[in-house]
Amino acid sequence: MTILIENALMLDGKRADTLIEENRIAAINPKQKDRSDVVIDATKKAIVPGLFNMHTHAAMILLKGYADDYELHEWLTQHIFPMEAKLKPKHVYYGTLLACAEMIHSGTTCFNDMYFFEEEIAKAVERAGMRAVVSKALTTQSYNRAEAKKAIKKLSDFERVLPALGPHAIYTTDKETLCDVKELASELDVLIHFHLSETKKEVEDCLKEHGKRPAEYLKEIGFLSNRVINAHCVWLNEREIKIVAESGAKMVSCPTSNLKLASGIAPLTEIVDAGIATMLGTDGSASNNSLNMFETIKLASLLQKYKQWDATALPAEQAFELATINAAKALNLKAGVIKEGFLADLCLIDLTHISMVPCYNLISNIVFSAEPACVDTVICNGRILMENRVIGWEADIKEKAMQVAEELLSE
Ligand SMILES: [Zn+2]
Repeated sequence: MTILIENALMLDGKRADTLIEENRIAAINPKQKDRSDVVIDATKKAIVPGLFNMHTHAAMILLKGYADDYELHEWLTQHIFPMEAKLKPKHVYYGTLLACAEMIHSGTTCFNDMYFFEEEIAKAVERAGMRAVVSKALTTQSYNRAEAKKAIKKLSDFERVLPALGPHAIYTTDKETLCDVKELASELDVLIHFHLSETKKEVEDCLKEHGKRPAEYLKEIGFLSNRVINAHCVWLNEREIKIVAESGAKMVSCPTSNLKLASGIAPLTEIVDAGIATMLGTDGSASNNSLNMFETIKLASLLQKYKQWDATALPAEQAFELATINAAKALNLKAGVIKEGFLADLCLIDLTHISMVPCYNLISNIVFSAEPACVDTVICNGRILMENRVIGWEADIKEKAMQVAEELLSE
């Protein structure tokens, strides 16, 4: 199928026509445009790359608002873990689909997920039409090499799904497991999705148990490499930032979740300056409580300005890159920009929406004033997922998700 998006405002402030053929952007300002199957008049719209939400537990949307205002450890052990023990595949399938709908509404086309029942996540991604990294989530207790291998093989069969291994964190996954996962990831050539240095408690416990801080410990056991995507990194000190940078490992900051659980503010400016591939994520909806990447991008920038006492810290353009091109590069995807030959993963923004008026600088508006409601149309892999803010399957999924969430609570 070919789609022609006519006369949209681009990030450089110019207007252009964008031709999509199959799953790629075939041309910007094509000479021949009369043969398109679909023509979208974007005179009152802007075209931007789809956002990347690089740390999620999408199905946790079913626990949104279930346990708010608790201290992290109590939240996790007293409220979240007991509910998660009751999860069945259907909860993860419908929960992930509901999350996909919320992400599409807020301009996200790709997410990096870690949760139970990974095959259900992949099925939901397939149905929603999005792109995702889906991890085989594991801890020492649940890890089985043969099973993990089988799971990766199954995930590889899904279109638009990049399989990964997801060891949870140092406090749930021991040295032997982490080393084995590292080996397996190289053998299967997949990424590793991990939680690193999220809380002060994690650092203190690691010091007590291993005599080292988390990144130092991971360096010692040889776990860190350019395959590893570390979520959070709130408590990395200067020495640890250097360790992560030297290892080639990547980092995802989740500012909203870190504030809500009072985990702290990540040293994002220092991490970016150290040359670490840096991205942004929302984390699960139980600790956010939304999957709104506009809010995440804005908070990431504002928190660095506050932390550095410097209004020039993490400026709009850089913050926007953390949620687009940086993530595409980390996943080795030719995406994250509107350019010929790149994947057609993109959004049309309604320039008449109140959050976009006036529009002196499109990137500034996207970073500092955009709301999900300004996202008009979302295209992923050359396919229209949402048009005029309508997702065809949304109403059914909302109903089904409510139903399975109620079942989960009453069990
Ligand atoms: Zn997480």
